[in-house]
Amino acid sequence: MKLHDFPRHPLTFGPSPVHPLRRLSSHLGGAQVWAKREDVSSGLAFGGNKVRKLEYIVPDVLASGADTLVSIGGYQSNHTRQVAAVAAHLGLKCRLVQEHWVPWDDPVNDKVGNILLSRILGADSRLDPAGFDIGIRDSWKNALAEVEAAGGTPYPIPAGASEHPLGGLGFANWAFEVAAQEKELGVFFDTIVVCTVTGSTHAGMIAGFAALEDLTGVKRRVLGIDASATLAKTRDQVARIARDTAALIELGRDLRDDEIQVLEGWAGELYGIPVESTMEAIRLGAQLEAMITDPVYEGKSLAGLIDLVSTGEIPRDATVLYAHLGGQPAINAYHRLWS
Ligand SMILES: *Cc1c(COP(=O)(O)O)cnc(C)c1O
Repeated sequence: MKLHDFPRHPLTFGPSPVHPLRRLSSHLGGAQVWAKREDVSSGLAFGGNKVRKLEYIVPDVLASGADTLVSIGGYQSNHTRQVAAVAAHLGLKCRLVQEHWVPWDDPVNDKVGNILLSRILGADSRLDPAGFDIGIRDSWKNALAEVEAAGGTPYPIPAGASEHPLGGLGFANWAFEVAAQEKELGVFFDTIVVCTVTGSTHAGMIAGFAALEDLTGVKRRVLGIDASATLAKTRDQVARIARDTAALIELGRDLRDDEIQVLEGWAGELYGIPVESTMEAIRLGAQLEAMITDPVYEGKSLAGLIDLVSTGEIPRDATVLYAHLGGQPAINAYHRLWS
């Protein structure tokens, strides 16, 4: 099937907004920087990038007859909060495994922000002491078995919805949405910068922009900024999901190596722990643009963009699109960074 033939259950207000970051661009003194805002594109409990992936998964959920969405993430997972929101919106139950992915031992880390929202949304959110891993976990298989044992019908949604066979479609379609917005705005984004961890956001974009390139002959760079700090795993996962998604939408060719670029340098030592460049990026985004980014994901990808533009690695004549994927609720758990 072609991308546009896959069923999509709308969970957003429509295309996510695109706007120039004028003060940040002039501060950096290089390329023109714009943002496309997944953080303000849905009314479902503050939205974010997982909502867009779930638009392509929900038709399968509804067809399956499941009554409970089951998913997994860290204590401050944006993904599990978005699954809880979609479950509430659809009138389904939700069982979440929240693992100790981040050694951020603030007393409110398992109480405020995303996990608080998931509880308000009615999800059965349970803590698990396991550490960070983007792969398939036993705790998650156990949660599925428990739902079944209790007479429910679970629908499994893996971490970040990335390992789901349809997980890359949301952001493959994002590429076509960008192309339509470029026409309206009279602008062309030659470089896309996006945060990558479980991989299907970046991978979907790679597949989508490859399809667009084959239609138009126009190339662009889609740069993933690693925020997992487990680079080899994220790189493998991005490449695999990009190829699977490309095959799913019948791209009809293999992806080139230059189409799959996951850059390192801004994740720090550990997933979920900000470093100096993260804090500086959060400060610049907030104080120049009132654009709030978080210490886990978007602060790190913004730090990557800032360095790539400042050093000229992204050239002065480039027009860059920063994909803002959401994540603000987590800042509550990081309050002491600013107090
Ligand atoms: C999940 C998430 C990401 C990473 O997306 P993946 O598809 O897991 O690579 C980036 N930013 C935010 C705010 C997220 O919630």
